[in-house]
Amino acid sequence: MTRAAAAAARVRERPSANQDERPAGMPVDMLVLHYTGMRSARAALDRLCDPASRVSSHYVVEEDGQVWRLVDERRRAFHAGVSYWRGHQALNGRSIGIEIVNPGHEHGYRDFPALQMAAVCDLCLEILARHPIPARNVVAHSDIAPDRKDDPGEKFDWPGLAANGVGVWPLGVADRGFGGIVRDGGGLRSVRADLAAVGYGVAAEGGADMALHTVLRAFQRHWRPEAVTGEADAGTVARLEAVARICAGG
Ligand SMILES: [Zn+2]
Repeated sequence: MTRAAAAAARVRERPSANQDERPAGMPVDMLVLHYTGMRSARAALDRLCDPASRVSSHYVVEEDGQVWRLVDERRRAFHAGVSYWRGHQALNGRSIGIEIVNPGHEHGYRDFPALQMAAVCDLCLEILARHPIPARNVVAHSDIAPDRKDDPGEKFDWPGLAANGVGVWPLGVADRGFGGIVRDGGGLRSVRADLAAVGYGVAAEGGADMALHTVLRAFQRHWRPEAVTGEADAGTVARLEAVARICAGG
């Protein structure tokens, strides 16, 4: 048995009622990663399958690496909610959602175990082989809904995933530290433009600074987890410029 076949054999079925048809003709070109944010895997699975909750995901990955399929990838699951990325909104129609078991910031946020991350990585690679999902469209829930969501959060191993071919992580960016916070208009305009180039729903010009702070926090949770401050410090700006360059390139 190949590694992929072994992984497929490990997937258990737990169908959720919370699904419907994808919009006709829409490509599946996004992969959205979440944490469950509940006290236990069982509570999360129950909620994601409860018709009254109106939420679901295609997959749930437990901390021991057990993978559950709740919704067929050809169908729409209800995991993204109000969302925006690279010019598109309401992203359930074009995305696959994976819920990764972790109590989350409300119930004792903790590290994602290596076994769990390995299972997430294998599952993502299988999904990427089945759908035209570019690396820049492998995102956190917090990336596509920065004002509502923090998941999967700053403990999630994005660099490890990228090292295996899942998502974007810039290599070789010099650490410029936490000082040198950008506050002038010109500097902030270029921060906005880079965030928009990555895919965030922030206007390239103007807008409230509060929104910029919120979006910067989302960027940091994903690409600069050392300090989730919402401030455009020198290290954050360097990482942002590098990510924007990769995302602009395809
Ligand atoms: Zn989420």
